Amino acid sequence: MKEFKYIYGPVYSWRLGRSLGVDVLSRSDKACTFDCTYCQLGRTRIYTTKRKIFVPTKEIIKEIKALPKVNIDYITFSGRGEPTLAKNLGEVIRKIKKIRSEKIAVLTNSSLMPDDQVKKELKLADEVICKLDGSSLATFTLVSKPDSGIRFESVKEGIIKFRSIFKGKLSLQLMFVKENKDEAQAMAKIASEVKVDEIQINTPTRSQEVEALSESEIQKIKSYFSRFNVISVYDKPRKSIKPISGEGTLRRGRGDV
Ligand code: SF4
Repeated sequence: MKEFKYIYGPVYSWRLGRSLGVDVLSRSDKACTFDCTYCQLGRTRIYTTKRKIFVPTKEIIKEIKALPKVNIDYITFSGRGEPTLAKNLGEVIRKIKKIRSEKIAVLTNSSLMPDDQVKKELKLADEVICKLDGSSLATFTLVSKPDSGIRFESVKEGIIKFRSIFKGKLSLQLMFVKENKDEAQAMAKIASEVKVDEIQINTPTRSQEVEALSESEIQKIKSYFSRFNVISVYDKPRKSIKPISGEGTLRRGRGDV
């Protein structure tokens, strides 16, 4: 089995199907703008909002070119932290599109959405999954524990602005835990403002730290989103797929998949 450093999987994703991950951060500890209570990657030791190149584009493209024959639905930018922190995200997407025909998805925590350059780069993807874990500054702060430079209102406005320029599929991931489970109605209002294509209702079923909501609690939350195209983590059966890479496959996914 070939060892890859920057790509992993494919794994079965409840919202994307067979998903091959690209980790543009590839650090031993995560790089993130948040420290979500339920993060599977451990606590955020160093917060950062500064974009930089973590892995040179050519190194990632070299691995993409070395891929064995693999059946995948999406090439997904995820990994150990927030992928929009990588300054070469747009360049990597552009280059992968030249050599692969699969759709490209980016999972983002939306924190850098206020940045126009980030919006420009995310526009290159086929699907962008924006996460938002609160309808107010209070719950957003409680659940996502953002860096002090991140403003809830700017994040929300950033997602709305991105919608107005993005022609691809825009999904909103809402991670429900006990702190925000009574905010479903308010979150549905935000989803209407954003005009999303899909709502993905999640609860941290894989977290060691935080208790996931039950299937019946998620069903109740889902009822507030009946006017949307909505899926939840409990709807899809988990499937296993033979990965092309070994060790990294299970450990790489973002803390909120
Ligand atoms: S869950 Fe995602 S956004 Fe939250 S701290 Fe972990 S990697 Fe960052």
